[in-house]
Parts: sequence; C-alpha cells; structure tokens
Amino acid sequence: MTDCLFCKMVSGEIKPDTVYEDDEVLAFRDINPQAPTHVLVVPKQHVATINDLDAGTAGVVGRMLLAAAEVARQEGFSEQGYRTVMNCNEHGGQTVFHIHLHLLGGRIMGWPPG
Ligand code: AMP
Ligand code: ZN
Repeated sequence: MTDCLFCKMVSGEIKPDTVYEDDEVLAFRDINPQAPTHVLVVPKQHVATINDLDAGTAGVVGRMLLAAAEVARQEGFSEQGYRTVMNCNEHGGQTVFHIHLHLLGGRIMGWPPG
C-alpha cells in the first residue's frame, strides 16, 4: 500500500523509533505516548482492520502478541504487567488503517477504557 503510513515504516521510507523487528512484524514507539512506554506492533503485510483478517493472515496476530511480550521484557515491565489494545474502525477509535497492537506499560492502567 503506497499511501499507508505504517507500510512506509515497514519499507523504510519513514524511519520510526524501532524497538523490535522480525520477519513478520515491526514494533516502534508511538509518536503520542499514552504511558511511559507506548509501542505499536504492526504486521509487515498490509491488513487495514481486524475485519479484514482471514484464515491466511490471522496467524500474524499471534506473532504481534509474541513481539509485544518480548518488548515488555526488554522494557522491564513484563512481570508487573501491561495493556495491549487493538482498535477497530470508528467506534474503536482506529485512526491508522493498517492493523496495529498498542503495547502500554510503565503505569497502572484504568478499566474500563474510555
Ligand atoms: P489508532 O488510533 O489505534 O489507529 O492508533 C494509531 C496510533 O498511531 C496513535 O496512537 C498515534 O499516536 C500513532 N501514530 C500516528 N502517527 C505516527 C507516527 N508517525 N509515528 C508513530 N506513531 C504514530
Ligand atoms: Zn499498510
């Protein structure tokens, strides 16, 4: 996708503050952090929303969670705990239409979310 912000980060056209990368996913710091650590984990393959996942692409979501757990270890809060979130479409608050997992850590999270 030529016009997708996160595809441009995967291709290197835009350089994010990368904290983790493997063959299927890229993780980088959110530009507008909502916690002491706020990292976005994205698949290298473009999928616009959770609604667009199918049997062929759904496996990458597990890889996104594995990457989030690895970043939480790197950041030193895996035992204290953290929040992972995937927003979908308008009511979910999605603003970038390339699926991403938010990893938030370093403070106690409230519930329910707003
Ligand atoms: P969402 O609202 O769930 O679609 O999340 C999109 C996230 O992308 C927001 O938390 C933004 O702060 C973040 N974001 C937008 N532009 C950038 C950027 N250039 N670099 C890093 N994070 C970004
Ligand atoms: Zn994309």
